[in-house]
Amino acid sequence: RTALLRIDDLVVEYPTAGGTIHAVSGVSFDVRRGETLGIVGESGSGKSTLLRAVLRLTPVTGGAVHYGDHELTSLTGEEMRQLRPDLQMIIQDPIASLNPRRTVRELVAEGLRIWPQRVTDTVDEQVRRGLDAVSLDVDLVGDRRPKSFSGGQCQRIAIARALALQPRVLFCDEPVSALDVSVQARILNLIRELRRTLDLTVVFVSHDLGVVKNVSDRVMVLYLGRVCELAPAEQFFAAPAHPYSRLLLSAAPGSGQAPEHEQTGEPPSPLDPPSGCRFRSRCPQAQEICATDVPEPRDIGNNHFVACHFPLLPTVRD
Ligand code: ATP
Ligand code: MG
Repeated sequence: RTALLRIDDLVVEYPTAGGTIHAVSGVSFDVRRGETLGIVGESGSGKSTLLRAVLRLTPVTGGAVHYGDHELTSLTGEEMRQLRPDLQMIIQDPIASLNPRRTVRELVAEGLRIWPQRVTDTVDEQVRRGLDAVSLDVDLVGDRRPKSFSGGQCQRIAIARALALQPRVLFCDEPVSALDVSVQARILNLIRELRRTLDLTVVFVSHDLGVVKNVSDRVMVLYLGRVCELAPAEQFFAAPAHPYSRLLLSAAPGSGQAPEHEQTGEPPSPLDPPSGCRFRSRCPQAQEICATDVPEPRDIGNNHFVACHFPLLPTVRD
């Protein structure tokens, strides 16, 4: 599959009174047309910053984001505005993302008023279709306001709002983390279904590996602003090669193991990340070289990339 988005050596730093926060430190990957790429990592690993930087919602310190013929980090505000409908984002808190004073019909139509060039049919028809796609009936919900809906329904409305613009890529930042488990499954099914029926490309961020496993074609693991591993989902879950990925998997709910921070402590501060491999301070396998040399991602076979000096290769795996 061809790449729809190509992120190249992206760097995002936040200057703060306490120093520079190294939130994203040289991240490269591509997003292929029609795939769902899952991005996973614990709190503070830079997942939201990465998405926001790709979408130019936060300033980029370095690197490039290629989308079609465009390089997003060098576009003017107006040029970027023209592309926004293509690249839509769903966030964690659906209620906060919906203006409480607007009706559902107004909320879903809002983007079409901002980007009239996206009205290929009529606004009403596209609102109806957007709501249809998330199993909501405009005749039943169109005149109601967000507060009369549950969290799951609000997330559906937020998704309908994005879909009304006929986007090409849907960026989902923890879209189900605030929802009840039973509702989570329904929203995940919905996202999977939309990908198929609307030929959407999805970038799906979560700290929950179970959720990522459920939706992703490929999985990318972030740790303190760097990529540890990037692999087809099946391979990743069958044979994770980075020690951090293994730790994450062993700490996943249902594994019967203690959460990862109870095993190896809290992650270091992004104000002063470790030299060399950023995971080395928690890594059971760390050697001298890990403190001096940054491990570059390399392909251990079948597009399975691992950034580790001592990856767990299938032949030596226990
Ligand atoms: P979570 O799972 O908690 O959502 P995340 O992986 O999305 O975490 P980010 O929110 O991207 O992580 O944060 C990465 C780092 O950047 C963290 O150390 C965070 O404290 C810091 N950070 C995020 N936003 C800002 C900001 N606006 N100003 C300063 N630091 C920030
Ligand atoms: Mg986040």
